[in-house]
Amino acid sequence: MGQQLYFDNYSPVGDLIVVAICFVMIILVAASYVSKTKGFNLFLNMIGYLVLASFCDIIHHQLYTNVADGNYTAVYVIRILYHAFLFSILLLFVVYIVEIQRLEIRKRIPIMSISSIIYLTVLITDIVTAVRKTGFRLDRNGKAISGLNIFLIGYLAFMVVIIFLMVAYRDRIYKRAMVGFYGTMAVSFIILFMQGRHGQSSFTAATFLFPIIAMMYLIHSTPYDVELGAVNAAALKDLVKYNYDKKRDFIFMSLYLPDFDAEGRIIPKELQTTIRHFSSEFFKNAVLFQVSNGHVILIAPKNNNPDHENRINRILNSFQLEYERFQFDYKVIIGNSAEEISRKNEYVSFIQNIHRNMEINTIHLMQPEDVGAFNRYEYILDELEDINKKHDLRDERVLAFCQPVYNIKTGKYDTAEALMRLKLPELGMVFPDQFIPIAEEQGFIHVLTEIILQKTCDEIRRLIQEGYEVNRISVNVSVLELRDDGFTGDIDQIIDDSGIPNEKVAIEITESRSDSDFLMMKGKIEELKDRGIKFYLDDFGTGYSNMERIMELPFDIIKFDRSLVLASDADKKSEKMVGSLANMFSELNYSVLYEGVENDGDEKRCINMSASYLQGYKYSRPIPITELDQFFSKVDG
Ligand code: C2E
Ligand code: CA
Ligand code: CA
Repeated sequence: MGQQLYFDNYSPVGDLIVVAICFVMIILVAASYVSKTKGFNLFLNMIGYLVLASFCDIIHHQLYTNVADGNYTAVYVIRILYHAFLFSILLLFVVYIVEIQRLEIRKRIPIMSISSIIYLTVLITDIVTAVRKTGFRLDRNGKAISGLNIFLIGYLAFMVVIIFLMVAYRDRIYKRAMVGFYGTMAVSFIILFMQGRHGQSSFTAATFLFPIIAMMYLIHSTPYDVELGAVNAAALKDLVKYNYDKKRDFIFMSLYLPDFDAEGRIIPKELQTTIRHFSSEFFKNAVLFQVSNGHVILIAPKNNNPDHENRINRILNSFQLEYERFQFDYKVIIGNSAEEISRKNEYVSFIQNIHRNMEINTIHLMQPEDVGAFNRYEYILDELEDINKKHDLRDERVLAFCQPVYNIKTGKYDTAEALMRLKLPELGMVFPDQFIPIAEEQGFIHVLTEIILQKTCDEIRRLIQEGYEVNRISVNVSVLELRDDGFTGDIDQIIDDSGIPNEKVAIEITESRSDSDFLMMKGKIEELKDRGIKFYLDDFGTGYSNMERIMELPFDIIKFDRSLVLASDADKKSEKMVGSLANMFSELNYSVLYEGVENDGDEKRCINMSASYLQGYKYSRPIPITELDQFFSKVDG
């Protein structure tokens, strides 16, 4: 029968180390940003049970060594508790794996039933064999006798369940994380094996430690950027979900620095330090998240910061001071968690949508309307996505409007600009300022252009067939689209298929700042230009203009922006300036078109300033393209 067994070879060192490591883990969990996803509480419980188990083991041996004659009950009880804690950890480990594998209920039931049966069997056997003196027991002299070792059997049975789970559903966990779990479990086995060979019993609890360390490292840890003090944005979703589940409100502050937001850019060291201080100085328990190179979001729980209004004011005051020092462009948004955004867990896109509509170097305090605007944005985005997917060039949601253009030389309307609108089931008419930026950002602009071009070509063909004099209709194209290799081919194809001459179509583009864009644009414009398509330079006079480059591109018409029409009204000097610019262009054989001509005064000035074409509300508001026949004249008429 089992003699002295492991008892003589026990030293509390193993258990003490386990307790110490558990405390280290608790300190690390408190100090780091951990993602509190579903398994997190299980993970904490496992650490707790491990500490308890180690203590029980120490006490158990202590009691055994000092056991007084006769009364051995405490030794038995503590021993059973020790097993209960260890097996609870194994049971929780199974629940944990099932959780991270997101196993369906149907598959969970057998796994959990088997695990519970093993768990109960071990504990009941422990108790029964103790009572019947067939398992572990102390003899009359207080010597321990091992008896039936149910512990090892239970341990192995759990391992079989765990390994089964990890093999059968291996596809559900990222492979490298899996390797981490296998690796740490292998270390546990080696220790268990070595301990057995040496007749030791001090390191049993230690073998439970390694899978727990693996969990912390692989699943819950989210490293800080030590300089900025931020964690990555993926963790933001976890925190939002956690707060939403617990119904906890929070404050968020978003700092966007466009200068540093490009790829490869980074916030300068000194500014990083300032941001790091900011994120810990003003709010308790705040966490900073880095969304992109130039965008950080601070989340602070409301219940830890009852005086948040004050704190917000203080942070804003300090921010102004820092701004005077650094002078980098910024957009700041401050707001409260909103039920709807939390439910969708979309604070980043919510904030980005506010950015889209706010001025640079301003601070925006979130309004209830922002949520509505975001819903609208998402709806538009969904529709654009669908339009893009269907790729129906006659999609009814995309409307071609147009504005007839007055030709001064002929005194007639024979050209027009196509302008896009969306007509969406839930919103009705949507104007370009509401969807063009979204479409450009999300890569849906080209399909919209194709649809407008298709509808414009359809209308040109109809007008020609009905005997109208159509010089041409221009379509707006985004510089972003030109970057795409298929651009010229797509344009060509649509015009070709509709059977109208190429020169009936013009493309309006705006200037681009970048050098690489310029060369790329030049190539594509020349290619289409060779086939007869006309080109207009749109929005001349808004901001930046590089004359040298404009001259290098084969434009037919320069469209003077409405801001120049307005400027020319300010005083004689400005009128002279705009006029000489226009004059210079016409002497170089470009035609000048003035946009935004609203009244007789505008018209008169523009005619005096070398205008060839006039466009604006004075002649017509944008109308459905099919109503253009009201402006155009018949060839013979
Ligand atoms: P844009 O190309 O400069 O178009 C002229 C804009 O000025 C149109 O606004 C037009 O309605 C407006 N406008 C016309 N006459 C007057 C006037 O007398 N006074 C004033 N204040 N405004 C006038 P809309 O249709 O809202 O379009 C806005 C912008 O959206 C366009 O500016 C263009 O950049 C973009 N856009 C419109 N349609 C398309 C399109 O099919 N594709 C692309 N990529 N962009 C488009
Ligand atoms: Ca235009
Ligand atoms: Ca324009």
